Amino acid sequence: MVRAVRALVPATTATSAAQLVLAFVAVELALYAVHRAMHAAPWLWRFHRWHHAPGPVRWHRGWRIHPVDAALFALAVTAATAAVGASPFTAAGVIVARRAWTLALHADLRWPATLVDHWLATPAIHRRHHDEAAPAANFAPTLAWVDRLFGTWAPPR
Ligand SMILES: [Zn+2]
Repeated sequence: MVRAVRALVPATTATSAAQLVLAFVAVELALYAVHRAMHAAPWLWRFHRWHHAPGPVRWHRGWRIHPVDAALFALAVTAATAAVGASPFTAAGVIVARRAWTLALHADLRWPATLVDHWLATPAIHRRHHDEAAPAANFAPTLAWVDRLFGTWAPPR
């Protein structure tokens, strides 16, 4: 049975760990750029502000995005995975992992500020992103070091 299924899957869909990491980082950079543009360009903010509507940040808020945002994020993921030659299976795995992380980022968790916040996007870091009283920061969806690299990281308040 497994052999029959493998025969149906083209050899180009094989995924190595290096390809998975490369795809993950490429997607992270693409999503960072799109998310940052959503905050910088007024015509994009018109759609993204729906996600930033006033109110507490809760797990389901991660899924509350305008269809234009969803399309732009999907385009960014597709372009980034294609650019690094990732297979559709790799792209699907990256998307599923990111959607799960998005739920955690928006969850109402008591997440103390730690050194982890400097390297990974955590609920505390992302709550800072949703803080309306503070300048926009922390755009990276998973890897906080991307924000540190581009000077947009801010500690939790
Ligand atoms: Zn945002």
